[in-house]
Amino acid sequence: MRDGSTVFLPRKIRLERQHGLAAHEIGHFLLATAGMENSEDNARFMAGALVLSREDFADDVIRAKWDLHRLKTWHPNASFEMLARRLAQVERARVEIVDAGRRRVVVGPQTRREMRAFEIASGGYRRVIRVGRAD
Ligand SMILES: [Zn+2]
Repeated sequence: MRDGSTVFLPRKIRLERQHGLAAHEIGHFLLATAGMENSEDNARFMAGALVLSREDFADDVIRAKWDLHRLKTWHPNASFEMLARRLAQVERARVEIVDAGRRRVVVGPQTRREMRAFEIASGGYRRVIRVGRAD
């Protein structure tokens, strides 16, 4: 992906994925430049912050009533995963991403509350993202 000054993006991946990868690599660059911990988690956070500015996105989350499909129509350059992860950064939320029946990503504290499930069908894979208000 990187050779020091150039970010190469695979052409065959979805456009939103290209945007996410570019933001992620810019995140690495910014973290390194600022002398901050240049970890994958931090680069992922930076990517979300670059694509979905905190204040505007927090307003959108409320306007969309936490509906990932509605948020996706307003933010077509962000993947569903980025939208869900960012939601958990602007709200006290629990996010679980389930690919082919296996829970792959968990963000946020436990919740005993009901979680809303969003089916994501794109690019030949089946994903379910569950979102709920954390306790
Ligand atoms: Zn990375």
